[in-house]
Amino acid sequence: MKKTGVILLMLMTLTAFAAELPQPDSLVCAEVVNVVDGKTLDVVVQESRNGLESGKMYRVRLIGVDVPATPENVGLYGKEVAEFAERHLLNSTVLLELDVRPYDERNNLLAYIWLGWPVADKTEGELRKLMFNAILILDGYARVATAPPNVKYAEYFAEFEKTARAMGVGLWQNQKLEDSDVIVYVTPKGRKYHLKSCRTISNSQEIMPITLEEAKKRGYEPCRVCDPPN
Ligand SMILES: [Zn+2]
Repeated sequence: MKKTGVILLMLMTLTAFAAELPQPDSLVCAEVVNVVDGKTLDVVVQESRNGLESGKMYRVRLIGVDVPATPENVGLYGKEVAEFAERHLLNSTVLLELDVRPYDERNNLLAYIWLGWPVADKTEGELRKLMFNAILILDGYARVATAPPNVKYAEYFAEFEKTARAMGVGLWQNQKLEDSDVIVYVTPKGRKYHLKSCRTISNSQEIMPITLEEAKKRGYEPCRVCDPPN
């Protein structure tokens, strides 16, 4: 075989290999056919993409969240979470987004669930509105559970959990954080306080952490873009 032929073969092999890895930015349509609990679903994939096969059923575990596992266990909030997931997901078409690691050790597919198409750059606002994993955390139905290497949205999720805890919603009803325990962010010239991830302060030279208690005391208002705890 000539040298160019060898290189071409190598290139083809590499391309074939790359095609089997999940492309984090492309979403795959699937229908939710069963809700096992708040973070476990069965879906039937509707297109062959990212290594997934059209028409095949997959058990999906949501990335980044932990919910009370048994639906029967009312005391642990499991029933509410399962009902919430059923109401939002059962028999509906969702979009699956994979991260670096596509399967766990039990061969469950690991995914983020989008309830609708986000625009290309997937802003924080879109996570809040359209990504079910984020909605579970924001509404206090789930805690954050970060498992590397699937950490694409881990920083957002951590912020969302802080917000849920500060608001005392869902799981956090009886464990509401005091304003003095919640950290928000301000800039020297701004009159608003923010979440760390807020895009309106991302270019600021100086971003200072202060407690929510202090922010209120000094007359800062909550930012409307990032919607910090208030
Ligand atoms: Zn903000």
